[in-house]
Amino acid sequence: MAITDKIYLKNHRQLVSQIETSFPKSAFSGATLDILFTGEGLAKLDTASRDRVLDFAEDFLDCDCQSNPHCGCAERKFIAYLLELRAEGLGPDAIVDVMGDDYMVYAYPGDVLSFLDDSVRTLEAAERLADVDGRENEGQRIRRKRRELTR
Ligand SMILES: [Zn+2]
Repeated sequence: MAITDKIYLKNHRQLVSQIETSFPKSAFSGATLDILFTGEGLAKLDTASRDRVLDFAEDFLDCDCQSNPHCGCAERKFIAYLLELRAEGLGPDAIVDVMGDDYMVYAYPGDVLSFLDDSVRTLEAAERLADVDGRENEGQRIRRKRRELTR
């Protein structure tokens, strides 16, 4: 399961009762993207919730793909957001705190930790491949990325 399958809405029950339509607690579930982030759902939310939901929509769901919001861009952007927080030096617990403040979503720190470990291992593998192929610039670029995640 991808880390984006393990991102949950903090105030899920309030959101469901405000919108008066049930949808899953998982932020990136297809039904959640459809129901919570469509204009109709948004209009029914109180101001505080709407601001966070709008921030999420603006930061992750703003692509022009025909199949938006089911195109995969949102998941890719959220993963980039997590890696950016890690590169800023944040650990799993702090990352969970920040995503709560930013978007009212949460994950379990253990899941964030395994995601970060997996990301480092993926980069290590890519780095080895680049080295084997003699793609030096590519190898260096990946090495820099990996160091950002492991300092
Ligand atoms: Zn897209």
